[in-house]
Amino acid sequence: MVQYVYAFGDGGRDMADLLGGKGANLAEMTRLGLPVPPGFTVTTEACRAYLATGAEPDGLAEEIDAHRAALERRAGRRLGQADDPLLLSVRSGARFSMPGMMETILDIGLTDDSVRGLAKASGSERFAWDSYRRLLQMYGSTVMGVDTALFEGALARLKDSRGVPDDLHLDAADLARLVETYKGVIRAETGRDFPQDPAEQLRRSVHAVFASWNGDRARLYRRRERIPDDLGTAVTVQRMVFGNLGPDSGSGVAFTRDPATGRRGPYGDYLPNAQGEDVVAGIRNTVPLTDLERLDPVSYARLRAHLRTLETHYRDLCDVEFTIEHGTLWMLQTRVGKRTAEAAFTLAVELADEGLITPDEALARVSGDGLARLMFPRFDASAVGEALAHGIPASPGAAVGAVVFDSAEAVRRAGAGEKVVLVRQETTPDDLPGMVAAEAVLTSRGGKTSHAAVVARGMGKVCVCGAERLDVDVRERRFTAGGVTVHEGTVVSVDGSEGAVYAGALPLVDSAVMRYFRTGERSGGLVDAVARALRQADHTRRLEVRANADTPEDAERARRFGAEGIGLCRTEHMFLGDRRHLVEAMILARTDADRARALDALLPLQRRDFVGILRAMDGLPVTIRLLDPPLHEFLPDRTELAVRVAAAEAHGTPPSAHDAELLAAVNRMHEENPMLGLRGVRLGLVAPGLVAMQVRAIAEAVVRRTEAGGDPRAEIMVPLIDTVEELRLVRAEVEQVLAEVSEASGVAVRCPVGTMIELPRAALTAGRIAEQAEFFSFGTNDLTQTTWGFSRDDVEAAFFSAYLDKGIFTVSPFETIDPEGVGRLVRIAVAEGRAARPGLKIGVCGEHGGDPESVRFFHTAGLDYVSCSPFRVPVARLEAGRAALSGTDTSDSR
Ligand code: PEP
Ligand code: MG
Repeated sequence: MVQYVYAFGDGGRDMADLLGGKGANLAEMTRLGLPVPPGFTVTTEACRAYLATGAEPDGLAEEIDAHRAALERRAGRRLGQADDPLLLSVRSGARFSMPGMMETILDIGLTDDSVRGLAKASGSERFAWDSYRRLLQMYGSTVMGVDTALFEGALARLKDSRGVPDDLHLDAADLARLVETYKGVIRAETGRDFPQDPAEQLRRSVHAVFASWNGDRARLYRRRERIPDDLGTAVTVQRMVFGNLGPDSGSGVAFTRDPATGRRGPYGDYLPNAQGEDVVAGIRNTVPLTDLERLDPVSYARLRAHLRTLETHYRDLCDVEFTIEHGTLWMLQTRVGKRTAEAAFTLAVELADEGLITPDEALARVSGDGLARLMFPRFDASAVGEALAHGIPASPGAAVGAVVFDSAEAVRRAGAGEKVVLVRQETTPDDLPGMVAAEAVLTSRGGKTSHAAVVARGMGKVCVCGAERLDVDVRERRFTAGGVTVHEGTVVSVDGSEGAVYAGALPLVDSAVMRYFRTGERSGGLVDAVARALRQADHTRRLEVRANADTPEDAERARRFGAEGIGLCRTEHMFLGDRRHLVEAMILARTDADRARALDALLPLQRRDFVGILRAMDGLPVTIRLLDPPLHEFLPDRTELAVRVAAAEAHGTPPSAHDAELLAAVNRMHEENPMLGLRGVRLGLVAPGLVAMQVRAIAEAVVRRTEAGGDPRAEIMVPLIDTVEELRLVRAEVEQVLAEVSEASGVAVRCPVGTMIELPRAALTAGRIAEQAEFFSFGTNDLTQTTWGFSRDDVEAAFFSAYLDKGIFTVSPFETIDPEGVGRLVRIAVAEGRAARPGLKIGVCGEHGGDPESVRFFHTAGLDYVSCSPFRVPVARLEAGRAALSGTDTSDSR
């Protein structure tokens, strides 16, 4: 027989799948001997069975009855007993905490009879009627489906008629009247009476909590937080204790350490003479937890002792909810507490110093995402006041700018040098130019996967979306928020990490962590903690971390950030700017001699670039990729050119010969789909002399650095290979140039020649390709584009938000590697490449190389290194270290 119900004493923290986080931790506290009001937990398995069939599984009712009877025996009172009722709470509690997403019903067991018993037993009529009306409201809305607004309306009318400002001023008679009104509301809305049978109240409450798993709010939350839909929730049933029985009672929340900074605690809030719900709801002002020491020193000392017990036992920051009932302390909930990124680093290192956890465990407790958050600027906390509005923190960082309401205005003002914040109800692809021009994007609608959010994250722009309090009036060019009207041109401050908008320009503070990476300056506890976590990661990781960099400055920065080489030096930027005319000359060359001249002119420029980069990365590998994009990208825009030529003709003046020639070349080279056209290795194979020039520049740079006493380690990488034949041909040319330069210089230039694997065919024929390649580097940008058939330049803005909303995927495959499709190709290529060439060095240089989840994938796929943008290098180092921790749970604590 399946067991569906566990008394608190029979469970434990390792049973969270079955008992939910709350149930498992209540059981653990009970086992630790902490004062937990007795109760039991109905399992997630029972919930899943209920949701699958719409009915209670066999045996559940009997098990609940038996556990209720045991509670009654222990309390010496029965549920709903007329002269002194036992009252119960029923709460949801899933495997992962979903704050406020599901339902809670308190005071079960109150009826028309037992409310009088409670009044007598507690000595307070008011308390009894207040409890009853709370039950009617919670049960009425959650179990019987009555709109909460009807209860709230009735309460508001009562307060009006009595002329009182808040609930506390209603007396027992008022509340008894309210109970009658509420019962009437329930009857009118449902055609049924509020049940006077406490057992029925309990049973139906449990069902309602089960059903709340599939409520709209809960579903949406799970999608956002990537919590699976099929887990179900457990239900904890617990004896009620009351914090609202007078001045010797109260409720509070406490943390073993400060969840914002990680500093040693305890921290928390306390509300005398109140229920826990009142603390969370913020109805009255709480006092700092330390005030409890004065108000009730005995309970305070006990609480501190329990917090110590919990932190030592869980070996982590814990938070608790507690209630003091007539001077007796009760622990109602605990869990390993959520924390900011700053607190995560600080306390992980402190706990390790205190010997509570190992350095590896400390590493497991921090994350690359957290580190990335710490690398953005933020607002000076001392200057931050009341926010105008809050929304979803969709893309981190802090930005200040003048409000504008459309894309054109954003572009216009930004063009004139003004910093702007684009404010829209929601954005569409038409807003793209404005988003590019703005410092930050702010919307009143849409979630983390809205167009604004997806695009802003992609661009690294600050974004807050779904700030519902904003009433955006684009026509009038203003928004209002909580009574404040903000007109176009007014300066606001947007905090994309916290999801808040402030009036005026808040002072920005640089990230101390970023400063440390840039300059090595250690400026306090947080930076120290980050440095130590990274040291541990470097000690643990197997993956090397390189950077994608194509200038000496980027290479230097990458090295300071801990890069162990360059995994991708894109040579295309070296064809831009004032070198463009040389590229044009090469493309337009009519004779071999003309072309050779153009290439000869490019050669020293390329060589100089390579010398600088090899110097910056002296002693470390530098993977230089031969030219990848189609050549027409280096020519003027086709439309502009055509207009220029046509305008000249319209004026009766013939266009310049150069323009006419250029236009002809552009037309000749035009491709409908250049991403799948003449680029990568294909270009090298059909544009004579191009590969030779680039390789000669690399080889001569190596010679110069060697002669200067350096240790240059250039590697030559061929892009966009489909078949081994392409690589064979290019490689022959490369080897020949290397030999020529070696001979001419007397320096033996030895550069490994490898290839990118960025097309499905290359991945699937990696065994053949490895015969010619001394290393592989996965170009997961193109590999994702070609595996999914998604244009990498268009789809994210075009339809990804719809795909994310529909749950087709939960994260863009351009952001986090798609393990089933693209990842499968990676695994195949690794296996077949290494089978053909044992020990083949393999890395990745697509954007995924700096994405925490993808780094973990590449570790398990057996790669040797990841390569990412210089700023992501610390994130990749940290995640590579975490990936290498075996048997340690590195999932983020939710
Ligand atoms: C890739 O395709 O992943 C890659 C690194 O090359 P690029 O982004 O330059 O196409
Ligand atoms: Mg590519």
